[in-house]
Amino acid sequence: MTPKPVILVVIDGLTPAMLERAAETGCAPVLARLLEHGEYRRATSVFPSLTPVCLSSIATGAHGDVHEIPHLVWYHRGERRLVEYGSSFGAVRAAGIGQVLRDTLVNMNAAHLGRQAVTVFEALADAGLRTASVNFTAYRGRTTHRSLLPFLGEVRGPDSFFFYNLFQSERTGAPLSWRNRAGGSIDAYAAAVGRWLVTRDGFDFLVYYLSDYDYASHEHGPDAAFETLARCDDAVGALADAAGGLDELLDRYALVVLSDHGQTGVQDVAALEGRFADVDGALVTASNRAAQVYALDGCVLDPRQLAAALDQEPSVDVTLFREGGDAVARRQGDELRFAPGPSGWNLSGDAAILHHPDALERAWRALANPNAGEVLVSAQAGWEFADLGGRHHLGGGSHGSLLAGDSEVPLLTVGIEGAARSIVDVASLVLAHFAVRQPPYALGRAA
Ligand SMILES: [Zn+2]
Repeated sequence: MTPKPVILVVIDGLTPAMLERAAETGCAPVLARLLEHGEYRRATSVFPSLTPVCLSSIATGAHGDVHEIPHLVWYHRGERRLVEYGSSFGAVRAAGIGQVLRDTLVNMNAAHLGRQAVTVFEALADAGLRTASVNFTAYRGRTTHRSLLPFLGEVRGPDSFFFYNLFQSERTGAPLSWRNRAGGSIDAYAAAVGRWLVTRDGFDFLVYYLSDYDYASHEHGPDAAFETLARCDDAVGALADAAGGLDELLDRYALVVLSDHGQTGVQDVAALEGRFADVDGALVTASNRAAQVYALDGCVLDPRQLAAALDQEPSVDVTLFREGGDAVARRQGDELRFAPGPSGWNLSGDAAILHHPDALERAWRALANPNAGEVLVSAQAGWEFADLGGRHHLGGGSHGSLLAGDSEVPLLTVGIEGAARSIVDVASLVLAHFAVRQPPYALGRAA
């Protein structure tokens, strides 16, 4: 039997609690019916739990050690400059609007995403399957597309590639995505394209990315954006409408619905770069609830000393760094050393420091990212780090840390075999569904 085409729905920033409540509140009837039909579990995100890192993990089935996207904002050692993927408008202005657009829309896939990583679009295209994506930012594929904006040039994406009107491989008549973001115009664009694709049965694999929920949740705080959840529900409903109903949609397609990370409330804001103002050669890149400290070119800085400088910092939960062949997690001067061994993790010190979900593996792999800073910083509950433009989400929601609230995601599968315990397992499920060979790094994932 030919496997059904797969639709992967990614609802940015949706917490498990919010989806689980969808059935009771009645604000998301389509998702509630999918919950009845499918298999549901809570899964974990990666670290830092920030969208470019998470979507790269969903696309490649790997952590940052393989896909090499370390953060929303990071220091590019080769080019000796900051890369900022759009933390806030203030941060975009500080980093230079033209550079941010190129980094976010083109370079993240064309230059920053690791060469050894294989995206699910690439693996499926190599097997002769038709791939498609709508608005998904980790899009690297095998088909060349030219932007409607000449300065963006060409990129390689899925066969059918729709990206905020900037890249549109076919004419769908979808409305402009950036008309009114707060009013839901981005997801309305996605819904129009999704409807068009399902009507034409135009893919074997579609990533359908809904970004508006995260935006609303940053503003209103986690588990409060019911109106936006209802619009996400409508956007999934649009696919069902195009198929002639939800039963028909599930007859024709297998579905995966998940988010990339959670969110937690922000009650306090810290500006971390001030803590290193008198350390020559230290550069802090901070955004949302995660930060990194880099030693700039030619400066020899001891990571342990950089981490220790944050021991008394109330906004910091854990700092992480490498020492010899080990990783070290540090909280208020206490430490846990860890490294993968032949039969599980070798630990010494206070294991309670990394009590967060899947924390040893997530921390280890984040530190193994070649673009990571010398020190990684995970925020304390309730705190956010101001970004490059001094912006934050005080009174709203944020994410990025190792804490459970930022790290747990809802994961629902309908008509697809296997259980995913992490967002990095989703690509494997999809490839297995199509009996397509897994990338080599997906095997023996213990260390
Ligand atoms: Zn976000």
